[in-house]
Amino acid sequence: MMVDDEPVMLEIVQVLLEEEGYRHFVSVDDSTRAIDQLVQSNPDILLLDLDMPEVDGFEVLSRVRKLEDYQYLPVIILTASENPVNKLRALELGATDFLSKPVDPSELALRIRNTLAAKAYQDQLTYYDNLTGLPNRKLFTSHLGKAIAQAQQDNRNLVLLEIGLDYFQNINETLGVQGGDRILRSVAERLLGVIRGNDIVGRSSLSLPIENTARTGGDEFSVALYGNDSVENASVVCNRLLAAIRNPFDLDGENVHLTASIGIAVYPDDGEEADALIKHAASAQDFAKKQGRDRFQFYSSEMEAHSRALIKMMADLKTALQEEQFELHYQPQIDVASGAITGMESLIRWIHPQDGLIPPLKFIPVAEEIGLISEIGEWVMHEACCSASEWNAAGYSDLRVSVNVSARQFADAKFKASVESALRSSGLDPRNLVLEITESMLVGDTDQLAVLLHDIRDLGVSFSLDDFGTGYSSLSYLKKFPIDELKIDRSFMLGVPANPDDNSLVRAIIAMAHSLGQQVVAEGVEEAAQMEYLGQHGCNTVQGYYYSKPLCATDFGDYLAARVEHPGARRSGT
Ligand code: C2E
Ligand code: MG
Ligand code: MG
Repeated sequence: MMVDDEPVMLEIVQVLLEEEGYRHFVSVDDSTRAIDQLVQSNPDILLLDLDMPEVDGFEVLSRVRKLEDYQYLPVIILTASENPVNKLRALELGATDFLSKPVDPSELALRIRNTLAAKAYQDQLTYYDNLTGLPNRKLFTSHLGKAIAQAQQDNRNLVLLEIGLDYFQNINETLGVQGGDRILRSVAERLLGVIRGNDIVGRSSLSLPIENTARTGGDEFSVALYGNDSVENASVVCNRLLAAIRNPFDLDGENVHLTASIGIAVYPDDGEEADALIKHAASAQDFAKKQGRDRFQFYSSEMEAHSRALIKMMADLKTALQEEQFELHYQPQIDVASGAITGMESLIRWIHPQDGLIPPLKFIPVAEEIGLISEIGEWVMHEACCSASEWNAAGYSDLRVSVNVSARQFADAKFKASVESALRSSGLDPRNLVLEITESMLVGDTDQLAVLLHDIRDLGVSFSLDDFGTGYSSLSYLKKFPIDELKIDRSFMLGVPANPDDNSLVRAIIAMAHSLGQQVVAEGVEEAAQMEYLGQHGCNTVQGYYYSKPLCATDFGDYLAARVEHPGARRSGT
């Protein structure tokens, strides 16, 4: 762009530059319009006359430098004056270079070429991510703003995808930063492959030629989709992006597995400005992560409400322990052969002062997420051991209590000590404590965990494998870990005895467990027919509504007393 009050000068320079191959020359002969024109045409370089009526070149230059986006725009001053004071003043205001009038054609061409080369280098550093070569957040946001203006003009939608790699920190930790960088480069290539390979995106980006993929944070990428059917297309594109990342990466012959979570926000429904869209796409991504990762999520106001509820729950959980809002309930476990109570599973309840009873499946995952599970688990362990110890002392000897333990608790270095402390302070015989763990924590790189479980078992405590049959197909871990008991998941019990497949599975699990020297507990037993079937096939223990729902400690005490008086009694459906 050139600003000069002499139209002839403008014409001469335009002709010279077009001969050199430069396109898009913007002439401004009225310097009062210089700034508006600059913002509108966003030039790569500004040629500026100093001596102009109304607004002179100094004034234009100082206004340009006050605009954030144009602080570093190359400005070449064209002047007939050789006055060193003028030059100095222009330099102070941020001029990049000078050219004397009349203009020498080859000098003009050379100066412009060098200045633009320097600008291109500077732009690369300022606006692009040097690892992947993609636009960075700054440039992407500026492109997004322009794309939004265009979409508004054309009365069209625009879709923003915020893509976050799941657990990328682990990759950096295991493969080192260099390995992580190589993976990031491959991710960028794959994303571009999907975006370019996509008809709609390809076609529409032709009509709106701005770069639409960016690396906008350490492990964050952004994509903008334009076009009439961009919204309908968003899920297709997301599925392809997710599949592209799920495909293992080859790092020197080693397979590296990675997944991503994508948040989607749509202009204008989810925001009319770049910042609002980015914020909403990011909270949709957050939601996708909380829903289990490796998925995409459209922004929605319900989601926002859900997130708000989650944030409230996180805050409320932090005070729930001090304010004694947790209760531990107990569900009896019955020996199938004798009908005697052998023990009870402890199940936590949260009685929220406003929201009432919140079931564990709702708040345990949140407590895990915010790192409160160890503290809560410690309370559960202590409470369960104390109750069991009291019931044992009251004459119901050898009652065993089962305590559910989250995978996260085992990662806590103090876990073993907290088991010992609960045993010591309650006086419970370690043989009467059973820790329930789940299959999912026993897969993968678990050598250390196996050592820890063996250590804890040496205290005299036993382990039960909860929800057995729902997790993993490989059973090799059954040999590696010290497991004393399998709990057949409730989902299998639903079909017993009507469904032959469920029956076969239940029989197979019982046979397998017994041949490994393990006991079998069936959970979720609700009917006499299920009891009968389990009895016939050698299941050791049952637990379920058929006998009793989980009861608070006082009710459980009453239940124990009643069963001793009337051993056959059940307390079902209450
Ligand atoms: P789980 O350990 O598999 O517990 C069994 C769940 O099945 C309990 O749900 C129990 O109330 C329910 N149940 C028992 N018998 C029947 C039946 O006959 N029919 C039906 N429909 N349901 C039955 P609850 O108490 O809501 O607990 C859900 C899960 O929350 C537990 O599954 C366990 O994974 C977790 N949990 C509970 N308490 C704790 C705790 O103190 N710590 C940890 N980490 N997790 C816990
Ligand atoms: Mg359990
Ligand atoms: Mg279970």
